[in-house]
Amino acid sequence: MKVVIMAGGKGTRIASVRNDVPKPMIQICGKPILEYQIDNLRACNLTDIILVIGYLGDKIKDYFGDGRKFGVNIEYFVEDYPLGTAGALFKMPQLIDDFLLLCGDVIVDIDFNRFITFHKEHRALASLMAHPNGHPYDSSLLVTEITVPETVGGMPRDTHRVIRWMSKEDERTYYKNLVNAGIELISPELLKETMKSFVPRHPETPDKIDLDRDVLKPNISSGRIFVYNTPEYIKDMGTPDRLYETEKDIKSGKVHARNLQNKQKAIFLDRDGTINKMVGFVTKLEQFELIKGAAEAIKLINKSGYLAIVVTNQPVIARGDCTFEELQAIHDKMETELGKAGAFVDGIYVCPHHTDKGFEGERLEYKCICDCRKPKPGLLLQAAKDFNIDLSESYIIGDSYRDIEAGENAGVKKCIQVEGNKANGLLDAVKNIVD
Ligand SMILES: [Zn+2]
Repeated sequence: MKVVIMAGGKGTRIASVRNDVPKPMIQICGKPILEYQIDNLRACNLTDIILVIGYLGDKIKDYFGDGRKFGVNIEYFVEDYPLGTAGALFKMPQLIDDFLLLCGDVIVDIDFNRFITFHKEHRALASLMAHPNGHPYDSSLLVTEITVPETVGGMPRDTHRVIRWMSKEDERTYYKNLVNAGIELISPELLKETMKSFVPRHPETPDKIDLDRDVLKPNISSGRIFVYNTPEYIKDMGTPDRLYETEKDIKSGKVHARNLQNKQKAIFLDRDGTINKMVGFVTKLEQFELIKGAAEAIKLINKSGYLAIVVTNQPVIARGDCTFEELQAIHDKMETELGKAGAFVDGIYVCPHHTDKGFEGERLEYKCICDCRKPKPGLLLQAAKDFNIDLSESYIIGDSYRDIEAGENAGVKKCIQVEGNKANGLLDAVKNIVD
């Protein structure tokens, strides 16, 4: 598979660090950003690379040459004038198969083969890499389709199909923290489809094409644009602050550790009473309120090497007190409120079941003995499978014996019980783990 890296960008905000080299050549720990990418690609056997260069492009060419020294094969596409984030793609006859597209100013460490498998399984026109981040409120957000349970007693399913793209300017209330990371797998068919209806924004530069606005967004209606959500390390070097933070993360080993080829470690979190106030059962959006210190605690997890994963019993579904849609809205609120405080969760796992029958309005199809209701370990085991987690290096924090037993049943390293609804309870527990 070919890889196209857009390395023509001129860094403006980062210019205070270096302004005589193109952004992808800015060094971190003595190595250019672009070289980190090329090392990562080579490790995934992606060695056929096309670098799109423009501004100060000779500095890139001088350094990487034909790529042989770096164990890859590099071709160059020179933009005489900026063609936007996608214009060059339409001028490359060699893109006859699906290809990977990257921006040259992002530090990544990704299991790209996992991403490629996802793309192929979905027969996507494009697969967009996405992740939760610490500032979703000013990021471009993707919304995916969630289907209602197809079978009696089934669970709603995220099809990963993009149904909406919220730009920074779009008004938003509560949303899932699913931020477009700017890394794509693209089928040449998508480029063909784009050309059918493309109208240049500026008649004087008809070959200037914007990837998001002109290529991806207009094709959402095809139903074949999908989202690949990953907790792996992806950070663009937009500001000096981010650059310094990344330098720290490279040195501590966090950048590579997050690659999903490696075993991950997680802190599992109970929801009601641990993250948000338990006020009887939470069934309405307005009842959801974060406990003081919870966002700060989760932010600490995000900055550590641990994944933050919510595992929650929600018998309110079986009781008929709350629909899956209402529960989703509550979780969107949780992610939004956490996001405002710079925190995010990497996953949310829900058990909708309950055993005791005989309540008015209950949904009998969820009244059953399942493998996921804590203290059973099902939710943790599923997350471990999805994220390649080493449970023996992971923790669970919750306010009930059910959380503690679920952790023990899953074989986590340590289970920590906190007092329900207690301000800073979660924070203190997390500090004990990560400090
Ligand atoms: Zn269950």
